[in-house]
Amino acid sequence: MVLQKQNFFVSPEELQKQQQYCVQNRELLLARFGHRPKACVFVFGCQQNISDSQRMEGMLQNMGFDFTENIEEADLVLFNSCAVRQHAELRALGNVGGVKHWKAQRPERMILLCGCMVQQPEKAQKIRRSYPYVSILYGTHAIHRLPENIYRFLTTNKKVVDVETSDGTIAEPLPIRRTGVKGWLPVMYGCNNFCTYCIVPYVRGRERSRKPEDIINEAKDMIAAGYKEINLLGQNVNSYGKTLEDSIDFAELLEKINDLPGDFIIRFMTSHPKDCTEKLLETMSRCEKVAKHLHLPVQCGSDRVLKAMNRGYTHEKYLQLIQKAKSLMPNLCITSDIIVGFPGETFEDFEQTLQLTQKVKYSALFTFIFSPREGTPAQKLPDPIDAKEKNRWFQMLVEQQEKISAEITAPYVGQTFRVLCEGKKDNGMYFGRTEGNILIEFPGFDQYINQFVNVTVTQALSFVLRGEVQ
Ligand code: SAH
Ligand code: SF4
Repeated sequence: MVLQKQNFFVSPEELQKQQQYCVQNRELLLARFGHRPKACVFVFGCQQNISDSQRMEGMLQNMGFDFTENIEEADLVLFNSCAVRQHAELRALGNVGGVKHWKAQRPERMILLCGCMVQQPEKAQKIRRSYPYVSILYGTHAIHRLPENIYRFLTTNKKVVDVETSDGTIAEPLPIRRTGVKGWLPVMYGCNNFCTYCIVPYVRGRERSRKPEDIINEAKDMIAAGYKEINLLGQNVNSYGKTLEDSIDFAELLEKINDLPGDFIIRFMTSHPKDCTEKLLETMSRCEKVAKHLHLPVQCGSDRVLKAMNRGYTHEKYLQLIQKAKSLMPNLCITSDIIVGFPGETFEDFEQTLQLTQKVKYSALFTFIFSPREGTPAQKLPDPIDAKEKNRWFQMLVEQQEKISAEITAPYVGQTFRVLCEGKKDNGMYFGRTEGNILIEFPGFDQYINQFVNVTVTQALSFVLRGEVQ
């Protein structure tokens, strides 16, 4: 598809105005709370939401906020919601319901609800009515206006709703507060694919790419700040560059980031099979910092269902792509998303999914039962298979995958992997991921966190490896 070269960029004047609101908010917040305010941020959903939250935390920091994970200490709570499945929406709403009492205890406290769920105008109106104690409701397109919306609330003490429908924007640069070991770096926003089950194009707007220099500068900042894993994000990274004046594609961007000096690893998601090129696979195989892991969601193995999903490839085409990828990178780990029980899917269709996943031998699968999303074409389709039957299919797929994952990881015992230690689990074990993105746990020390360690596998369970640091 040829995309229009539309200007999505928010003007520098607008961003400067937001910066001025941050300064004004500092005084207003101090006056409201009587002390330096604290914010508690909850994120639901995907990595893009984590990245958005880090930018919102950057803006809050500019307004003088400190951060806490203990809501009892907080003056402001922010929920960044997801809309991709009903379960995600219910979880976010459950949390908003849970802070009613928290707000009543100290009425000057503020509750902010934002993200994909709120970017649906009808849903936003319903939330406004059902949760009247929420201070500010705003959608994904209003993230960069957070300082202005907080200012409006502080100066009127009236609920603010900012759910503008538009194609979306790119606000560059926004302040950012990074935490954790994994570095999230969006390369593009939105999606134009309109898979028939998916809400994302409606709540995230049109596909739009960031400029390569902005991405590379951010990558350099992350490396300078000590990040050792850079995760490039986009709903369909293979489509990167199409909205830009510069002639650049994702493979070229990947190579430029790979060429930056430093000891770090690059991961990316998500690749759409219809746009995954040989050039990208070759670049992946050549670039030493790019992890040999490909997340290539197939969604279903039946051509009939793939067509109804508007995915743009067939079972056979997908397998050819996998074959090409494996021939270029023999140690490649491949993962996928699968939707079970798309409307009209029969058991014979589902068997095609079982067969495809057998052939590909994914190292891991993210499996979901179809969840009807308001306003998507699939929501209107007849869906005769009942939930119990869909659950049975789902279980069959999960059980098959457990065996395949176990087959893949069994030969890892005795092998040594270079692993970035991400943190410590509740069970006292430290953990990280192999280059292929398989979780590995090992005994260790806090000094390991955010360092590369060589771990020899001692035990392979289907979804996690156990090992010892060398
Ligand atoms: N852009 C990514 C995926 C974004 S959503 C891609 O194209 O692969 C993440 C995953 O959620 C999807 O891959 C899909 O498997 C799942 N998903 C999306 N909409 C869904 C729905 N309505 N019901 C169930 N699963 C869904
Ligand atoms: Fe949704 Fe399809 Fe876009 Fe992925 S590619 S975000 S599944 S519409």
